[in-house]
Amino acid sequence: MNLENLFQSWEKQLSILDGDDLLRRLPEIESVATGKIKMNGREIIQLASNNYLGLNIETTVIAAGQRALSEYGTGASGSRLLSGNLNLYQKLEDQISGLKQTEATLVFSTGYQANLGLISTLCQPGDLILSDALNHASIIDGCRLSKANRQIYRHCDLEHLSHQLSEITSSSRRWIITDGVFSMDGDIAPLPEILELAHQWNAYVIVDDAHGFGVLGPDGGGVTSHFGIEDDRIIHVGTLSKAVAGLGGYVSGKRIMIDLLINRCRPFIFTTGLPPSVIAAATEAIELIMTQPGRRQRLLDHADYLRVQLRQLGFSVPFGETQILPVIIGNSFQTKQLANQLLELGVFAPAIRPPTVPPNTARLRLCPIATHTQHEIKLVVEAFATCLEK
Ligand code: PMP
Repeated sequence: MNLENLFQSWEKQLSILDGDDLLRRLPEIESVATGKIKMNGREIIQLASNNYLGLNIETTVIAAGQRALSEYGTGASGSRLLSGNLNLYQKLEDQISGLKQTEATLVFSTGYQANLGLISTLCQPGDLILSDALNHASIIDGCRLSKANRQIYRHCDLEHLSHQLSEITSSSRRWIITDGVFSMDGDIAPLPEILELAHQWNAYVIVDDAHGFGVLGPDGGGVTSHFGIEDDRIIHVGTLSKAVAGLGGYVSGKRIMIDLLINRCRPFIFTTGLPPSVIAAATEAIELIMTQPGRRQRLLDHADYLRVQLRQLGFSVPFGETQILPVIIGNSFQTKQLANQLLELGVFAPAIRPPTVPPNTARLRLCPIATHTQHEIKLVVEAFATCLEK
């Protein structure tokens, strides 16, 4: 294929996406303030952020990052196994182990890499992975990379999972992998029941708590803390990019597993460690998560209020108990239109379309921030009501 044909084939791919209302463009954000962003010179209520607790612009978090920047410089200078293992990691990893009630934790450079690395290192060819149908892309890619056998169970369907476990005839190792809080639907995995099945069928459970960590549970420890579960069969994975408002991922569990990852996990070994400012800011953010439970309460109160109000207006918003609210529209074009109207009214809630979500389930994914005011949340409801009138 000559170069001209290659470019034409790319153009064709993009025009097909455009025709299906699935073409994506990068929105440009000009500045960030409490609960708001600036776009095209206008201040807009931010309702699409994973910065659930508003810790991204908290003074002490910024100050901790600045101190580390002055003391250690801008970058890690190498992978953690070579020159990048700054002593700043220790406190961060201890904090996470404390919240997850585990022996040890390993911080990765992103949550995506944590899933990719954990799954591809632990799950071996011949093992069987049972994976929830709505698991995050990084889990799916980790499963693919692992070369283990895979079966997908229907979303949160315990009967289906149980059936799949009961049909296993070989003595291979079994892994059940699930999001703790599902990123596009906001529902919580039925972890106690999954764990019961894991005990019954001698399986291990990997829980990706990207959206629960810092938000759920009395101490912000996430989905296991929410259910009051502590079990050696669980391996915890998560991110520092959402409630912790920074960057990085983690795996937490047995010390022996962490030692194995340090030695065998390619997405951990062959990448540069986190910048010092990012490690120090995350450590301070987790300190605030542990000491300021009011933020979690405020966030979940905002989410409850929005859920009730939008349902009353007639929008399709499932019942739920987390900070993630899907407003299901179905059709990609209409979802894009609603997102554009909301933007005109000063609310940022971009359309989420396939393949991020299943076909015909395009939606707005609303996430309030703990630091939004009640007035801002009411403005959001008013904006939705105005869109309905239009
Ligand atoms: N797991 C889940 C469930 C997620 O939603 C995300 C991020 N969208 C990740 C993992 C990846 O985390 P990170 O952004 O830190 O790479």
